[in-house]
Amino acid sequence: MPRAVFLYSEVLAGFDYGDDHPFKPLRARNARELCRRCGLFDSPEASQMEPGPADDEALGLFHEPEYLDVLRRVSGGEGPSLEALARGLGTEECPLLPGIYDFCLRAAGATLRAVDLVADGAVDRTFQPVGGFHHAGRGHAEGFCYVNDMGVALEHLRARGLRVACVDLDAHHGNGVQEAFYDDDRVLTVSLHESGETLYPWSGAETEIGEGRGEGFNVNVPLLERTDDEVYVSVFRRVVPPLLDAFQPDLVLAQLGADTTVSDPLTHLRLTNNGYHAAVTALCENAPRLAALGGGGYDIYRTARCWTLAWSALSGLAPEEDYAALLGGAMHGRDMEPLFDPPVPTRGEPKERAWEQADRVVSYLQRTVFPRLGAKLP
Ligand SMILES: [Zn+2]
Repeated sequence: MPRAVFLYSEVLAGFDYGDDHPFKPLRARNARELCRRCGLFDSPEASQMEPGPADDEALGLFHEPEYLDVLRRVSGGEGPSLEALARGLGTEECPLLPGIYDFCLRAAGATLRAVDLVADGAVDRTFQPVGGFHHAGRGHAEGFCYVNDMGVALEHLRARGLRVACVDLDAHHGNGVQEAFYDDDRVLTVSLHESGETLYPWSGAETEIGEGRGEGFNVNVPLLERTDDEVYVSVFRRVVPPLLDAFQPDLVLAQLGADTTVSDPLTHLRLTNNGYHAAVTALCENAPRLAALGGGGYDIYRTARCWTLAWSALSGLAPEEDYAALLGGAMHGRDMEPLFDPPVPTRGEPKERAWEQADRVVSYLQRTVFPRLGAKLP
C-alpha cells in the first residue's frame, strides 16, 4: 500500500482560464513534472492516480441548485446576463468560460477522491493540486472559484459522520469555507492569511471565531504585509498543532496555496519556499491523515517548486535535485532554479510590526479559542 497518492488529471491541468487570467491550472502539470524529475514518484510509498469527475448530485451537497443551473448554462455558451452577474459569473475574476461546469465536476471529483482515499484508510496522505477553491459560496462564484470543492468535500465527510479540520495556508482568507461552516462544531477551520486590511477577500479577522455551536471552531490568523518565514513558521507552530491536538479530527483537509511567497504578484507576504516547506512539514507531523489541495499561487514557477516540496513532505521522500537538473528536458529557465531558496528575511520596522501583529493574534486566540477547544498552550 502506498503511503501517499498524487491525484492528477491532464484534463484538469489543461483547462485554460484565458491568457489574461492569473489563475493557471497548468501549474499542476509543471509540479508533477518537477516531482518526477526529482525522483519523488520512484518509490512504492508514492503513487499516482487519475481521478474521475463528480456528478451533479455531489456538487449539490454544497451548492444551491439554482446556482448550478446558471453555471451549467454559462458553461454551455450562454452569454452575459444580470442573472449570471448576480451569481458572480461574468466578472473579470470569474469570466464566462465555456466548459467551466465540466472543469468544476472534475475538480470536485478529484477532491472527493482525495478525501475518500484518506477517510477509507487506503492511504495516509493525498495531494490534489487543482483544488482548494475556497472562495466560492453556496450560491455564487468569486475569487477565481466557481464551485467550492472544499465545501463539497466537507459536506460529504460530515455526512459520513467524520470530524474534519480544515487548515488553509493560502495567502487569501478562506471566506467561502468559513461562511458555510461558521456555526458548525464538527468542522474546525484554521486559516492563516494576509490581513483583510490589505488583501481580498477583506475578511478573516482574528475576532471571527464562529457562532452558536460553532463558536471557537473557526480560527483566523491575519498576518501583516511582508511577514516572512521566521514569523510565519513561529505562528503556525504556536496555533495549528495545539488546535489539531485538541480537536482530534478524523482527517485534515489542507489548502496549500503557494501565493504566500515573496514573488507572488497578487499578494504581499514574503515567505520563501523554505518557510512554505517548513509549515507543510509541520502540518504533516501533526496530521497523520491528511488530504491536501493546491489552491492559489500566481508565480507559476515558484508554485511548481512549492508543490514539489509539499509532495516531498506528504510522501516522506527526499527530492533528488541534482538528478532533476541533469535531466533537463521540457522545462527551462526558472524551472531549473533550486527547490530551496536563499533566505529573504524582512528587516527593521516592517519586521517588528509583523512580529507584533503575530504575537497579538496568537495571544488573542490563546485567550478565546484555545479554552473552548481545550487546547494546551505550547
Ligand atoms: Zn490565494
